[in-house]
Amino acid sequence: MTANLRFDQIRLPEECEALRREVRAFLADEIAAGTFDPQQPGHGDSHSHEFSRRVGAKGWIGMTWPKSYGGQERTFLERFVVTEEFRVANAPVRLHFVADRQSGPILLKYAPEHVKMDILPRICRGEVCFVIGMSEPNSGSDLFAAKTKATKTDGGWLINGTKIWTSNAHIADYMIGLFRTSPSTKENRRHGLTQFLVDMKTPGINVNPVIQMTGQHDFNEVVFEDAFVPDDYMLGEIDGAWKQATSELAYERSGPERFLETFYVLVALIEALGPKPDLRSAEGLGRLTAQLHTLRRMSVSVAGMLQAGKEPSVEGSIVKDLGTAWEQKLPGRVRELAAFIESEATNRATLEEQLAFATTIAPKLTIQGGTTEVLRGIIARGLGLR
Ligand SMILES: Cc1cc2nc3c(=O)[nH]c(=O)nc-3n(C[C@H](O)[C@H](O)[C@H](O)COP(=O)(O)OP(=O)(O)OC[C@H]3O[C@@H](n4cnc5c(N)ncnc54)[C@H](O)[C@@H]3O)c2cc1C
Repeated sequence: MTANLRFDQIRLPEECEALRREVRAFLADEIAAGTFDPQQPGHGDSHSHEFSRRVGAKGWIGMTWPKSYGGQERTFLERFVVTEEFRVANAPVRLHFVADRQSGPILLKYAPEHVKMDILPRICRGEVCFVIGMSEPNSGSDLFAAKTKATKTDGGWLINGTKIWTSNAHIADYMIGLFRTSPSTKENRRHGLTQFLVDMKTPGINVNPVIQMTGQHDFNEVVFEDAFVPDDYMLGEIDGAWKQATSELAYERSGPERFLETFYVLVALIEALGPKPDLRSAEGLGRLTAQLHTLRRMSVSVAGMLQAGKEPSVEGSIVKDLGTAWEQKLPGRVRELAAFIESEATNRATLEEQLAFATTIAPKLTIQGGTTEVLRGIIARGLGLR
């Protein structure tokens, strides 16, 4: 292993288990009250204003942030537990999740004080939805080719251009967008991009739906026509956002949500196999569980490194690559193991329904948050291989 790659051996401490019990009790109450159905595929992709507010009231949004901004000053390992439990339960976290995971940390680092004081407590209360404005029609993986322009004007900037695949833009309050403020240079093709906070209610912003193959409306095209962004919504260094966007991706890529999006098919398989599975199924299930356990150890390790103030972008990319490849194959593996389950077995019908949904969403798993090929390029560079 090279010095550039390191997975610290981290175990979740005891306080995390106490928190896990608390989160499970909260989720059980929500399920009993009918807020969401953990068996319903796709529920983890839905949103509920009331649910997000109740999660905020528990102190589980922005939980690692300073108390002065509404946070709880808890650890990344505790945040890991909350994320894991919510994802496993298929809870509707869509409204607050992006803000909690990556937009809030960007504002914490780069926004002016009055903007932080205005927005971060609202995120912590589960009141606002953030989206990521990076991809464009002709610059998906190649972020540094972004063309959407921010042009200086009196007191701010005028934005013109189009972002695409913008998850949740139709329900969003704010975007953190990557816009071109100068041309790239010969020496540095990454130069010339700046990050901005954008209020999605600004005149000149149009959100057009892009419907997925499941029929769900998750992502969008966002068109900017002379949309005004004030000076104090400029984040960090002018023309130097490539550094900021790269560190943002370490938060985006390594969490347990990256390999638990279709976890429900594994649970449904266990229920359909019953307490005495045949040897072949038991072996297959054991193999899947061991692989999942390894992924989880790696993801916990990245959370621990974030807690220690490190920037584990290569390790995060490895977790995302291995995790999404594993998850993409999961529906196929579950289908093979389920082949001999009697049609009248308990939960057989639910398993079929869940498998159908998980199979339809599987292609996107290795694209969202950075494609497999791009991640492997980052890993190779981190290992000094290119
Ligand atoms: C469900 C979903 C939600 C998303 N949400 C958002 C969002 O909220 N905000 C946002 O900004 N983006 C979002 N994206 C975009 C996503 O993060 C990807 O970056 C983007 O889809 C990839 O760009 P592209 O589709 O233009 O493909 P391209 O970049 O054109 O890639 C096409 C193919 O070429 C390969 N390729 C590209 N460059 C290289 C290279 N250098 N080396 C080797 N192979 C390469 C890719 O791996 C891929 O197989 C989302 C995508 C999905 C699927």
